[in-house]
Amino acid sequence: MGKSCCAPGCTQRYTKGSGVQFYRFPAEVDRQNLWISPSFCLPPPRHDWLCNLHFLSSM
Ligand SMILES: [Zn+2]
Repeated sequence: MGKSCCAPGCTQRYTKGSGVQFYRFPAEVDRQNLWISPSFCLPPPRHDWLCNLHFLSSM
């Protein structure tokens, strides 16, 4: 079962050795805001995966 990124326009999928990392959203909205970069403007799709492109570099 592969993971794929739920961000609009993003076609990244998890494949072994690709270097792409996937993360789940934290449950708390406050933390979601910390995690999500400003370019990601949809409501948080809970229980979905986001690839590392959409997170702040500090994470
Ligand atoms: Zn993505």
